[in-house]
Amino acid sequence: MCVLERESLPEREDAEEALKLDRRTAILGAACLAVTVTIPWSAAASGSAKAARRLASPLPRQSPIDLRRRQITFVRRLPRLRLRYPRRVDVTLTNTGSPGEFATVRADVPAGAAHITVGGVRWELEQFHWHTPSEHEIDGRDTPLEMHFVHTRADDAILVIAVLIERGRRNDAIEPMFGDLPDQPNDTREVPDVALRALLPQKRASFRYTGSLTTPPFTEPVRFVVLADSISVSRRQIRAFRELFEDGNSRAVQPLNGRKVRSDVKRLPRPRQCMVARADRC
Ligand SMILES: [Zn+2]
Repeated sequence: MCVLERESLPEREDAEEALKLDRRTAILGAACLAVTVTIPWSAAASGSAKAARRLASPLPRQSPIDLRRRQITFVRRLPRLRLRYPRRVDVTLTNTGSPGEFATVRADVPAGAAHITVGGVRWELEQFHWHTPSEHEIDGRDTPLEMHFVHTRADDAILVIAVLIERGRRNDAIEPMFGDLPDQPNDTREVPDVALRALLPQKRASFRYTGSLTTPPFTEPVRFVVLADSISVSRRQIRAFRELFEDGNSRAVQPLNGRKVRSDVKRLPRPRQCMVARADRC
């Protein structure tokens, strides 16, 4: 991960004001675009693998986090999550700067094409993108990929639905995108008729907490809904994305700092397989 140098940190209020002032920057930040960032970074952190990026941020409510059983507040019901995604949508894929650690391949969705409601409040889907390995962990385990669906509200608040991706069967919904990813920085590609709903697991049980963008400028707050059920992609599909980000493009987990994680999951899911480096913990 990348660490904000302390002297460059804005006051919290300033940071939140900046978010309101520049919605586009916030969305781009969520999209893992590093190109607009002017904040200085620790040179030592740049380009290193996730495991080596374990420095904690000085900001208090950062993402991602390790979802640890003992720290989760289990509740019977959470505000209801309703997906109002169309069955199919045309997306524009953009390589935002591979192999940069804060870059990704982003799929932009046409304005107004898809939204969700949470507890009756409407959030518009702006884009989705991927990280490798997963940013969130469950009891210390990550998965090969994680997908982020970035939503905004009329007041510019941000909500991200995170989907963990395991290795398994080939994913037909992802294939039209991963079968031909834009492999050079700033390359774009139009992909028609993406099966948007099929990119998410059927069940909606989740972990919810207040965090941040996982890319510069690490803006707080961002509402995170991490779905408990994962989806799967094939080894070849994982490799297609990893080839663009050999050192990974995920941020290390951040301290919870007393935040509450709420979940309507009865039992924590266990990943079907683990990263090789962590095989001893499977
Ligand atoms: Zn992301």
